[in-house]
Order: sequence, then structure tokens, then C-alpha cells
Amino acid sequence: MRILVQKFGGTSLSSENARARAIQHIKRESDNGYSIVVVVSAMGRKGEPYATDTLLGLIRENGNALPLREVDMLLGCGEIISAAAFCSLLNSGGIPSVALTGGGAGIVTDEQFGSARIKRIEPNRLVKYLEAGLVVIVTGFQGITSQGDVTTLGRGGSDTTATALGAALHAEMVDIYTDVSGILTADPRIVAEAKPLAVVSYAEICNMARQGAKVIHPRAVEVAQQARIPLRVRSTFSDDPGTLVTDLPTDRAEHSVQDRHVTGIAHVAGVTQISVGAIEGRNDMQLQVFQTMAKHHISVDFINVTPSSALYTVFDQDAEKALYLLKESGFAPNAVQGCAKISIIGGGMNGEPGVMARIVEALTEQGITIMQSADSNTTIWVLVLESDMVCALRALHAKFDLHL
Ligand code: ADP
Ligand code: MG
Repeated sequence: MRILVQKFGGTSLSSENARARAIQHIKRESDNGYSIVVVVSAMGRKGEPYATDTLLGLIRENGNALPLREVDMLLGCGEIISAAAFCSLLNSGGIPSVALTGGGAGIVTDEQFGSARIKRIEPNRLVKYLEAGLVVIVTGFQGITSQGDVTTLGRGGSDTTATALGAALHAEMVDIYTDVSGILTADPRIVAEAKPLAVVSYAEICNMARQGAKVIHPRAVEVAQQARIPLRVRSTFSDDPGTLVTDLPTDRAEHSVQDRHVTGIAHVAGVTQISVGAIEGRNDMQLQVFQTMAKHHISVDFINVTPSSALYTVFDQDAEKALYLLKESGFAPNAVQGCAKISIIGGGMNGEPGVMARIVEALTEQGITIMQSADSNTTIWVLVLESDMVCALRALHAKFDLHL
């Protein structure tokens, strides 16, 4: 059996036209001889009747009154509606199919409601349906605990359902269908010239996803990488091949992954830069600062420590608490709210001179101040004011000729 997993995101299921396109993709690959597992998200985005955000709206007023376990019961409904509706469409289109919940498909998770981790997949039942020649539709984003409770995997979790099923079933490929034509050099909602990448490595896209590129969930990429299953990110609305994620050499890229210095640019807005100076006579500043953040579950990023200061970022929503705690410990922190972290990512930038110079050039030309920077062998990060973010992204995209 040659198994293909096809995942359809919310916007790919929200309209009749979109669902018809999805069915064309299923039919084409089924005609190509694949046994097909379809993973579906909830239909549509915020404001639409069965979208995850809409379901959450039902309990917003008194949200805290509902324990996380029951919140997951509610959230799991979106994908169930989607799977059943899609099953009826496929059947009436002459493609025999069955729909399974996450639990029905054997996806067993831990008990961390709202952000559960898949512990194992027992795919026997699913395989039997495939062997019987049915298309198997599985609700994305959810699993079941060993007790039988529904869990959800966190935002973007349907991507992980797709790659985890791909791994468990030894699928030949996992296709992530979405509303853009692949993984682009930047978020097309901000950089109109962003261009789809033909091939990227798991590490590059995992890095981009972690640094804010919401096109695929980083965990999903990790799972595919571990199982060595190639992934394609492609558009529901065209037959273009999209972006292939693999570590193997392919003939699809004009420039191999190693050849290009910069592959893409990602961003995260809504961060606060905090700086704390050492206090005379106290040598515990660094320890105190980071222990305090850790103790209160405030996640810190972009850390830069010198003997006399600690510089780091937190999410805007944690800033007030962080500053309060620091002052309580006797420090006098400074904070700049409303910053954005921009990541310039490329598997081939390692040791390449001049990448940082070009970044500084691009931003200086626009009069943008770099508030902080750091680098690794595959990424250079810069922190700018959020009000400069859009301009910075466009300038960097142009400077590295990513539109070409
Ligand atoms: P789905 O509902 O199909 O899972 P998502 O909204 O999760 O769709 O992901 C697709 C969106 O990701 C696109 O509409 C796009 O705005 C956004 N995005 C952010 N960065 C990138 C990028 N580098 N390449 C492609 N899309 C990106
Ligand atoms: Mg998504």
C-alpha cells in the first residue's frame, strides 16, 4: 500500500468552492494509486460558525468557569463537524469514505488538555479501512487520553496530526494544503513580493515556523523529520507542486539549500525588551533575574548577558508581571514595549561574511534602529520597534533579492 496523508486547513474547507477543490486533490491522488488519509481542521476562521475561535466564543463570557478538560470537549467539536460533513461530500461524490475522531484513529495523548502531546498511535483500525479501499478522514488537532477523554494538541495541531499519522502509517508523503502556494520567503500578508520556495530543509522550515511563520506548526515538522517523511506545503486552490520539505537532494530547486545564504524571513510582534543593570555590592543579578522569570513561568528570549547587565525579551502580555517581580527583587529594570523580533534564516549563511552587513545596510537605509541582535549559524535575529516592523521586513526582503 502506498499511503498519502492530505491535510486541509480551515480556509481550505470553509466554502463550497474550497471543499470542491479539496475533493479534486483527493480524487487525483487516489487515481494515482494512493491509499488516502485525509486530516481536516475545523471549517473556516474566526467569525465563521464552526471555527475553533467561534466555539471558544461560546464560553468567553464565563471562560474561567470551564475546566480545561471540558474546554477540549468543546474545541474537539469543530473538527468532528468538519470530518462528518466532508465524509458526506466525498461519499456523494462517489468516493467511499469513513470519518474517524482522533481517538477513533488511535491517537493517544497525555493528559495536558489544551496542548496535549501524542504518546502513541494505534493505527490498526485505520489501516483496515484503507485496505478496504476507503478514504479515511481523521479529525485533526485532537486525540484521546488513555482514560477516554478528548484532548486537543494546541494551535496548528492539525499539522501534527497529519505528520504523526504519516509516521505511524509509514506514508510516502504528507501534503499540507492551505491558502497560500507553499512556504514563502516571508509572510505574504506583509511582504506582497514573497515568493514560494521550491525546496527547504526540515531545519530551515522548523526554524522559520518557530520564529513566527505560521504556515506550518514546528512540532509537525519535527515529527516528519524524525520519521524521514517528505512534506509538501501547497495550495488547495491550485495544482502547483508547492514547497517540498526534505533533507534529500532533489532536482526541484534552482538553488540548492546550501547555495542560498538567506532562505526566508520570519517575524514575531508583541515583545518587550527588558534591561537590568547590576547593583553594586551584589553579584547575583544574572542568577536572580533568570531564576525569577523561570519561577513565574515567564518565557524569556533573545538573552544577552554581560557582567554588568542582562538584556532579554518577554511577550508584551508578561511584561508588567516581569517588571513588577524585578522591582520586588530590588532591581531597576528598563523596558521597551511593542517590539518585534525579525529572524533572517538560511541554512547556507554559516560563515558567510557580509550577511550582517547587508542587514544593517537595509535597516539603516530606512532609518530603522536595531535595538538588539544575535546570530547562530543559520539565523540572524534583530529586534526593532513594532512600528518599524513592516518596513524592516520589506527592506530586508528586497536587500536579499528574495523576490527573484
Ligand atoms: P491553515 O488554516 O491552512 O492551517 P494557516 O493560517 O495556519 O492556514 O497558515 C497559512 C498562513 O500562514 C498563510 O495565509 C500566511 O498568511 C501565513 N504565513 C506566515 N508566514 C508564511 C510564510 N513564510 N509562507 C507562507 N505562509 C505564511
Ligand atoms: Mg495552520
